[in-house]
Amino acid sequence: MNYQSLLIKYAEIGCKGKNRYLFEDALVKQIRFALKPIEGSFLVTKESGRIYANAEKDFDLDDAVEALQRVFGISGICPMVQVEDRGFEDLKKQVLLYLDQVYPKKDFTFKVNARRANKQYPMNSEEINRELGAAILEAYPHTSVDVHHPEVMLHVEIRSRINLYSQVIPGPGGMPVGTNGRAMLLLSGGIDSPVAGYMIAKRGVVVEAVYFHAPPYTSDRAKEKVVDLARLVSRYAGPLKLHIVNFTDIQLYIYDQCPHEELTIIMRRYMMRIAQAIAEKEKCQALITGESIGQVASQTVQSLAATNEVCTMPVFRPVIGFDKQEIVDISEKIGTFETSIQPFEDCCTIFVAKHPVTKPNINMIHHSEEKLAEKIDEMVKTAIESAEVMVCQ
Ligand code: ATP
Ligand code: MG
Repeated sequence: MNYQSLLIKYAEIGCKGKNRYLFEDALVKQIRFALKPIEGSFLVTKESGRIYANAEKDFDLDDAVEALQRVFGISGICPMVQVEDRGFEDLKKQVLLYLDQVYPKKDFTFKVNARRANKQYPMNSEEINRELGAAILEAYPHTSVDVHHPEVMLHVEIRSRINLYSQVIPGPGGMPVGTNGRAMLLLSGGIDSPVAGYMIAKRGVVVEAVYFHAPPYTSDRAKEKVVDLARLVSRYAGPLKLHIVNFTDIQLYIYDQCPHEELTIIMRRYMMRIAQAIAEKEKCQALITGESIGQVASQTVQSLAATNEVCTMPVFRPVIGFDKQEIVDISEKIGTFETSIQPFEDCCTIFVAKHPVTKPNINMIHHSEEKLAEKIDEMVKTAIESAEVMVCQ
């Protein structure tokens, strides 16, 4: 079947009133971005509550659908055929030809759903439904009409040309990126944080990321892996600004000054402080982490509370209640899993104590952090100022 265009449907929720055009414009922008690498020279337009992607050249439907299934805000993708208006007899022929090509087995139940945007058309929608229905039944006698739960809902839209479509391929849902603020993801090389970033982008939030590396304790390959993950997340989230912070000096200083069983918690508190400072500079309104209750010592409820204490911004932890397998399932679905499991150390694994505290006492943590007073502010400042920035896409 040679489709010329795609009708793109989106859920109405969240785009009522004056927000509607913001929602639609953001969606059009993301659709253009997603279709750019697909052959077909698509022209993306919005028209009375719908978005069309019209191809100027032949295109591969599977490629286009795959790209659009990564655009949040899309609820359905309908491959569409456009025919010229050459009178009703010709329309009947075109409809039968369409059904013949799309449904080789002619034993389906169907309903015709005509809409007239062109009110000059000599028949009304009811008449078109009835006449086309009769023509289909006559040409394909093993089909039948089911007005309540048809297997094939044939949409016939009469405009200056006539649109025919009957398939709705599910989109990813969510809201278009760019409609819901901006947040800073703490992106490690693991499985969880890319999934967390994906989930928040799905709600329409523009995501930036920060990665803490500790050369020479963590290798360049570990850093490359994070850049790769940022690129994979950007397939959904759009171009993603990544801040790479050198954390070595801070980590060594904590290691020298503080009790080793508190290392992870104190390190995590500094990661959050630095992430928040960069987030403020970048006009983000929230932080995102891949934490999940009980997964490791630093993610007991007590540890999460101790880490959270240093944050004044909201911290989104979208996988907080997920089992590991549930997170793995999403990472496989979005294509980050294979990269996440590459065996490169991240900076936390090197400085982990044998017996990290699982119920940190916040007063003791404060007491330990006082031992850092001499140099830590300067070190944090340097880490922020010397961060390497790149846009991943
Ligand atoms: P992940 O699979 O996301 O690496 P994890 O199970 O390894 O998570 P932790 O190492 O305790 O868990 O990290 C918890 C969260 O802290 C991560 O999901 C991530 O958001 C953040 N984080 C950890 N290490 C780093 C790092 N080196 N750079 C940036 N963020 C980090
Ligand atoms: Mg990790």
